[in-house]
Parts: sequence; structure tokens; C-alpha cells
Amino acid sequence: MEYDVVVIGSGPGGYVAAIRAAQLGLKVACIDRRKELGGTCLNVGCIPSKTLLHATMHGISFDKMMRKKEEVVKGFNIGIEGLFKKNKVTPIIGAAKILSPNKISVDGVKEITTKNIILATGSEPTPLASLPFDEKRIVSSTGALALTTIPKKLLVIGAGVIGVELGSVYKRLGSEVVFVELSDRILSTFDEGLSKAALEAFTKQGMKFFLSSKDLAPHMDADVILVSIGRKPYTANLGLENVGITPTPKGFIPIDGQFRTSVPNIYAIGDIVDGPMLAHKGSEEGVAAAEIIAGHNPVVNYMIIPNVVYTHPEIASVGLTEKGAKDLGLTINIGNFPFKANSRARCVDDDEGFVKVLADTTTDKILGVHIIGPQASELISSASIAMATKMTAEQLGNMCIAHPTLTEALKEAALAVHRKAIHK
Ligand SMILES: Cc1cc2nc3c(=O)[nH]c(=O)nc-3n(C[C@H](O)[C@H](O)[C@H](O)COP(=O)(O)OP(=O)(O)OC[C@H]3O[C@@H](n4cnc5c(N)ncnc54)[C@H](O)[C@@H]3O)c2cc1C
Repeated sequence: MEYDVVVIGSGPGGYVAAIRAAQLGLKVACIDRRKELGGTCLNVGCIPSKTLLHATMHGISFDKMMRKKEEVVKGFNIGIEGLFKKNKVTPIIGAAKILSPNKISVDGVKEITTKNIILATGSEPTPLASLPFDEKRIVSSTGALALTTIPKKLLVIGAGVIGVELGSVYKRLGSEVVFVELSDRILSTFDEGLSKAALEAFTKQGMKFFLSSKDLAPHMDADVILVSIGRKPYTANLGLENVGITPTPKGFIPIDGQFRTSVPNIYAIGDIVDGPMLAHKGSEEGVAAAEIIAGHNPVVNYMIIPNVVYTHPEIASVGLTEKGAKDLGLTINIGNFPFKANSRARCVDDDEGFVKVLADTTTDKILGVHIIGPQASELISSASIAMATKMTAEQLGNMCIAHPTLTEALKEAALAVHRKAIHK
């Protein structure tokens, strides 16, 4: 039997690509070496981490919390199986290896023939040479999501998104949490204003940060060490050499503007290609790759990919940072609005943080929105919609927004771009 498309990897890039390709009438299989579908995101990433973050905000016991995490993950594993069945995507369990542009072996035994291949094999945690993972004391995020006891002291190496999220989980459970970070600020890919405010908030919660530092020695008494210094693309044993695909020095698979690798019928999406390592970015690329194979002409707007940290307060960003805009030579107007002046934030007693809107001085188009505060993860979508529809700060400021809502803080920050905010 010949497939139109075989997707390797069932993460948010791969399974979404498989479903979209099947919706478009193509004959599709999706191979994963894990027997549970859903990739990193569902099994050891977004979903378990957000379940733990939610549970620890609500004081659920450690054991109950871990059971809840298993239940949530399992539910979605079954959910994806169901979606595959509904859309007639054939799931195949096993390690895939490309033999030629049209042939893939599974576990070295079965051979599959296909017109097109979508590579979506994702990423893995970057280890620290001096502290290799044993997933017991020296853990990656995967080990940190599955600890069997609450550590007395947790050392987190790297204060990026994964580090601060998992650090927050264990801080709330009562661990002493210490971060050692090479950069001079935490969450260094975010707007500097957010990094600063986040550092203040997390320090107030009792987490300790050692910035511009790689001196681990004073903290080696920690009973668990989480190494969260980044992730790297995963393409081991994929057989890329059999078809002449050469990864970049950082391990990413080079693609053209249509997700094609150097082999025209082999596409690559998600964490194995350059760009932010985010589930929704992979999914958008998966949809686009499937549509391209079916002869459509989709576009992924890389300017509008939100990035969220699910700590308390939440942190969310879309578009350019202040520095990013300046580096591009753009001149910007900035509007800020604090949640302390937002009535809903006061009603729900969660008023730490602010919204910051950046707009181009010439066109007034919104270039970026940065939020730290209540429900930032949800609020950022309104900012994305405003940017996708090319709204100006003035137009966003003139929107009639329901009262009392947190979204009014976004409106007021847009108004503040032209010094017209009402409540500050
Ligand atoms: C702790 C943590 C929290 C995160 N939280 C978020 C979040 O809140 N929001 C967000 O957007 N992103 C988050 N991420 C990142 C997100 O998980 C990834 O960006 C996303 O999973 C990438 O999707 P993908 O489809 O490219 O690959 P993956 O999800 O990594 O899936 C790749 C799949 O390919 C399979 N595979 C690999 N090689 C082979 C092979 N040769 N044969 C068969 N199968 C193979 C793997 O088993 C895996 O299942 C988080 C990550 C971590 C680790």
C-alpha cells in the first residue's frame, strides 16, 4: 500500500499535519516511536506542566496532583487516537528511518512506501556536560515532571520558560528553589520590562536567583538539580544521510519557505526547524505543510506567534520586543497600563503586573504587546488578533470592551500609546 503522506512524529506538529492532510483527502500514516500519541507537548511538556502549575495554585496534595496529571495526559492520548480514527489517519508505533525519498522503515522491519514525508521529530533537552541526566537527582524537565517526592532543595540551572514554570511548581509545594542563570536576566528572550517584573514577582514568592553566574558549587547540596538550559532538535537515527539532508550546525533541518527540505517531497516542521520551539508554531506549520502538499498556498505569519509563561503572574508576549524594534531601526511609541488600575483585576484580587503596547511612530501599527499579570495567556490572543488584522494602537484603544474585564487593561495600554488612558 502506498501513502500520499507519512508523518514522522505525533507531536503537535505531526499529529495536526496528519489530520489536516487527511481532511484534504490524502491517504495518511503517522509514525511515532512512543506508543502514546501527542509527542513532547502532551506527554512530557505543555500539558503535564500546566496541570502541575494549576494544581499547585489550588493546594492539591502531591500524590493527587501527579495522578491528575496522568489522567489529563491519558485523556488526550486517547483523544488523538480518536481524531486519527475519525479522520482515517493510520497510526503506526515504532522508530521510523528514511531509506529513500519514498521509503521508510519502521523498527528496521516493516517498510512503508509514500509519495511525501513530513518530518516532525521534535526536540530533546540539552544536557550539561558536567551534570549528565540520570532523571533522578540530575533531571531534565521530563524527570522534574515525574518526581516521586517533593525535593527539600531544588537547584534549577537556567531561568528560561521551562525552568521558571517547574521552579514555581516546586516552590509552591514547599521546596527551597534556587536558580543559577548565565544571562544577566531571567526569561531573556522576553521584553526586558517583563523579565524585570517577573524577577521581582518570583523573588517576592521566595525563589532565589543568581544571575550572570555559572557557579553551581554553593548549591550542590540540592537534592534535585533541574538542568533546563534549552532544547535541541532531535533527528537521531532518522536516516537523513540516506537522502542527503544535512542539518545545520545547531541540528535544525534546513527548509525553504514552503517547509521543503533539500529533497522536494520531504518536508520538515515544528521543533526540528528553526524558530521558536512552541507547540502552536509547530501546529501552524503542520497545517501549512499538509495544505502545500495538497496544492494549496497557505502562509504562516511568524510575526504573530505568542509566547506564554504559565507562572503566577502569567507572562505573555507577541510581536517585537522594545529592543527587537530598536534593532530593526523602527521608532516606537509605548503605552503601559498597570493591572492595579484595572477594576476586574482588583475585584479578583490579582492585580500584579501591567500591559505594554508598542506601536510604530509613523504608522501607529501595533508591533508588539507584552503582558505580565492575571490571565495574560488568554489576553495575548486579543493582541494577536489586533496585530493580525493590522490594527493601529488608536483603533485598539477605541474598541468598546466589556466592563469590568481584564481586556480593558489592553485597551487602556493602547490608549496610553497616545497618552489617552483614562484610568491612570
Ligand atoms: C516541560 C515543557 C513544557 C512546555 N510547555 C509548552 C507550552 O506551554 N506551550 C508551548 O507552546 N510549548 C511548550 N513546550 C514546547 C513544546 O512541547 C514543543 O514545542 C512541541 O512539543 C514541539 O512539537 P513537535 O511536533 O515539533 O515535536 P514533539 O512534540 O517533540 O514530538 C516529536 C515526536 O516525534 C517522535 N519521534 C522522534 N523521532 C522519531 C522517529 N525516528 N520515529 C518515530 N517517532 C519519532 C517522538 O517520539 C515524539 O513523540 C514545552 C516543552 C517542555 C519540555
